[in-house]
Amino acid sequence: MAFTAEELAALSLEFETKTPQEIIQWAIETYSPNLAVSSSFQTQSVPLLHMVSRIDPEILIFFLDTGYHFWETLMFREQLQRELNLRVQNLYVDGMWSNFLRRFGKELYKSDPDLCCYLRKVQPMQKAMKSVSAWISGIRRDQTENRAHASILELEPNGLVKINPLLNWSRQDVQSYMKEYNLPSHPLFDRGYRSIGCKPCTRAILAGESERAGRWAGKDKTECGLHTDMFKKEGPPPGLMTNFMLFKSPTLPEEKKDE
Ligand code: SF4
Repeated sequence: MAFTAEELAALSLEFETKTPQEIIQWAIETYSPNLAVSSSFQTQSVPLLHMVSRIDPEILIFFLDTGYHFWETLMFREQLQRELNLRVQNLYVDGMWSNFLRRFGKELYKSDPDLCCYLRKVQPMQKAMKSVSAWISGIRRDQTENRAHASILELEPNGLVKINPLLNWSRQDVQSYMKEYNLPSHPLFDRGYRSIGCKPCTRAILAGESERAGRWAGKDKTECGLHTDMFKKEGPPPGLMTNFMLFKSPTLPEEKKDE
């Protein structure tokens, strides 16, 4: 079903007082089978995965396999997939960039984390979302400044409808839901990892720090780009073509080392 931006905005306001389950139910009735959930398979992902598995076990779950996850995350993904009977589809770096990343990818997260996130997360998700009409995400307003301004329903420039059913939840709501349904936590949760992404860009948080303080710590970066304007734009961010041209150069020192 196609909605205008105005209709979606009105529905979004109406959904501010609905439960996540009611919003997910609406999403499934409106868009199934042309919708997918994105999940990073960490502790805070579990309530959304549990809800969708109870409402529609056939729903597709996209997981970005960046190649840099903690092995505990991959094991947790397997556990949840098995226990909740999830239909998980792993997303990988687009083949056209794999040579580029083989050359530059190892430490690209240090030199240009935005580019690294674009190639390993944003671009594969943009490509996967072209196969559906709607996307259910698990973001919450209390997570980052950027997310504080999100809406429950959002219309992407390419017509994709993004649905954020947990937007009004707090960290406490996540914990209460986990307790109510006796759901498992990510193996690193008890070691201080409250928000978990790729291993090189994640650390445990310290007492008093915010939930996402361990993500890209020490860098001026709080989002991978999936939930920012980077996702809305087709094509790479500034810097990508510069690095790509260096990659193509036959005089690169890195290339000489391989000889
Ligand atoms: S989180 Fe770090 S390693 Fe993962 S894609 Fe982004 S910059 Fe690269």
